[in-house]
Amino acid sequence: MTIPNKNYANLKDSYLFYNISQKVKAYSAAHPDKRLYRLGIGDVSLPLPEVVIKALHEAVDEQANKDTFHGYMPECGAPFLRKTIATHYATHGVSINEDEVFVSSGASDELGDILDLFDKSNTALIMEPAYPAYVDANIMAGRIIIHLPSGIENGFLPEPPQNAKADIIYICSPNNPTGAVFDRKKLQKWVDFANENGSVIIFDAAYEAFIEDVVIPRSIFEIKGAKTCAIEICSLSKTAGFTGTRLGYTVIPKTLVRQNMNFNDMWVRNRTTKTNGVSYIIQKGAAAVFTPEGQKQIRDNISIYKNNAKMIMDALDKAGVWYTGGKNSPYVWMKVPDRFDSWGFFDYLLNETGIIGTPGAGFGGCGEGFFRFSAFGTPEDTKEAAKIMKELLIDLEVAHK
Ligand code: PLP
Repeated sequence: MTIPNKNYANLKDSYLFYNISQKVKAYSAAHPDKRLYRLGIGDVSLPLPEVVIKALHEAVDEQANKDTFHGYMPECGAPFLRKTIATHYATHGVSINEDEVFVSSGASDELGDILDLFDKSNTALIMEPAYPAYVDANIMAGRIIIHLPSGIENGFLPEPPQNAKADIIYICSPNNPTGAVFDRKKLQKWVDFANENGSVIIFDAAYEAFIEDVVIPRSIFEIKGAKTCAIEICSLSKTAGFTGTRLGYTVIPKTLVRQNMNFNDMWVRNRTTKTNGVSYIIQKGAAAVFTPEGQKQIRDNISIYKNNAKMIMDALDKAGVWYTGGKNSPYVWMKVPDRFDSWGFFDYLLNETGIIGTPGAGFGGCGEGFFRFSAFGTPEDTKEAAKIMKELLIDLEVAHK
């Protein structure tokens, strides 16, 4: 008799985005003429940059010709792309070798797959609120999870705990959902903690391209000692609009060793067993992102999203509402007015204004009482929504006094 992985029975159903879509559907049916402002989405709204489209077309044409056709790609990534990514790291002062870069089909895939490298008995420390995949992937693997709470008192940037045996440590900076970013000093504490305890940090850098403050690290490998304790998982999804095109990369330093086992060697062994690599066409499109023209075009798109974030932040500033994120991140995380919980505020906002955000309670512990706005919507929607929201929040505050 086949025995299924019973850990799946321990997963909680995630109703967050389903519940949101049901509520929006009901609202639209009741108010067919009302405009909706979608500030809840985590997906991008701008198309791929022109340089990427051109490179994709050229790669498709290569596949049509016997002399330029490519079959299977190397499992760990095409050498041209591994080299390009390693060179890109050097532009923000990080020296890595191309064989420390692994090309993937996206950060989500890697966040799940990478757990193959860890024993089941390892604990996973997850700072909350968190991107839900961290918790679920570890529940599927049957691991003990240490939930590390965060809140306004630490700006949603918790410090290493005093007495926890944390083997795998998740850090997401800029964070989804809070938009909070770790500065160098705070990251150094985590790196020192990991090295002292023999832990491994899984650093999710999916939003690194949104960092504008030069003093904020874009990579964990900007921190002293990180090459002996960290794996970095990155993605072109939000950086370059690849959410539906799919490409990510993972950096595993050759110096990451535990109990005489080298994680880079293990990942080579894993990839050469479990994948036949990422499509040649997509890798060519990805390489175009790292050209000077590609970098300029992604910057232009990111600045549109950043401007959306600024409009939301300005509205909250004027209404005197506490928030974090926005500046180095596409997410703004606000405290909901005292009389609401996060779903109550969602309903109120939708019904009064047609604005759709994401209730913080959907991101696990400590999310209750907070609300996420995304800057990935259209500038037109965001501008109008920010204006409406500012007035609504000021009225709520006045009514409360
Ligand atoms: N990590 C974080 C924090 C995310 O928010 C997301 C997507 O929203 C991902 C990873 C997944 O990215 P990808 O599209 O590369 O799978």
